[in-house]
Amino acid sequence: MKTDLLSFTSKGIYCAAADVYLDPWRPVDKAIISHAHADHSRYGNKKYIAHHHSVPVMKHRLGAVNVQGVSWNEPFSVNGIQFTLYPAGHIIGSSLIKVTHKGEVALFTGDYKLEDDGISTPLEMQRCHTLITECTFGLPIFRWKPQQEVFAEIESWWSFNRQHAFTSVIYAYSLGKAQRLLHNLKADHGPILVHPVIAAVNESLSSIASFGHVETLSADKNPIDYPGAMLILPPSGREAKYLKKWGELKTASASGWMATRGNRRRRNVDRGFVISDHCDFDALNTCIKYSEADKVICTHGFTDIYSKYLREIGFNARTEYVEFEEEEIEESKDSMV
Ligand SMILES: [Zn+2]
Repeated sequence: MKTDLLSFTSKGIYCAAADVYLDPWRPVDKAIISHAHADHSRYGNKKYIAHHHSVPVMKHRLGAVNVQGVSWNEPFSVNGIQFTLYPAGHIIGSSLIKVTHKGEVALFTGDYKLEDDGISTPLEMQRCHTLITECTFGLPIFRWKPQQEVFAEIESWWSFNRQHAFTSVIYAYSLGKAQRLLHNLKADHGPILVHPVIAAVNESLSSIASFGHVETLSADKNPIDYPGAMLILPPSGREAKYLKKWGELKTASASGWMATRGNRRRRNVDRGFVISDHCDFDALNTCIKYSEADKVICTHGFTDIYSKYLREIGFNARTEYVEFEEEEIEESKDSMV
């Protein structure tokens, strides 16, 4: 009987044939990492393998870890088993992980999105026999507008705020969303200042991407010098004491979760801009159909409802327990500076 290339264990997704884990949530000897977000790239592994572009942020967040950088589309071998990384389009360096053995192909998506955000290398979806997919936004209520429309909404909000002498504050995850905003927002409406946590991530990515002229927020910055400013903060940055001197603040959150009114209310922000680094419902369906997988395993997100939907449209789909988290939880682990 054929055994699965990948199995789910108490430490993480495991390839027994290669004795390697994918994004393990407990310390292991050898881990292949899909991307540098904290719930996928954790402390304590003896050896890490990840795409070259993930390496600087992993070192920034994890310290002096033993990490081997590999390229997309270039197979490498672990104990005789072939692995290949492909761009996942989620954040800089994010990768799909493909395992190939004796004609059998398994693909683990990590986190992924279909839309080209202009800064992460766009997704290169793969065909496979077994697909392990996230489904963070696997409900039909989650459908994203093209990002140009959302950035236009953000810019007109910022322009309005400037005309009324308000300071614009936008909450965005420090790795991924913040850089996507910086890359796509034009600084015509005023200066942009970022929280020190975001500045540190930008610095770690400086050999890979540049983010224009951006200053770092600090207690000694005088708001008079920054009329019409936009401040980009991680969600955990809202308590920073120095915000008080920036006058009347207009706040917004940039997240896929802003698609629902309840989440906007819970976040206590003036505006919610619906922009996500994950696939929306339609993109998940598109990618899963493209994969032609015989077997689909849904991990984090709306797993039960979404896998039921997949079964209804003819897929052999089920769920498995993982310890990946929603980004807002991982974000709160970033230190508040
Ligand atoms: Zn992620």
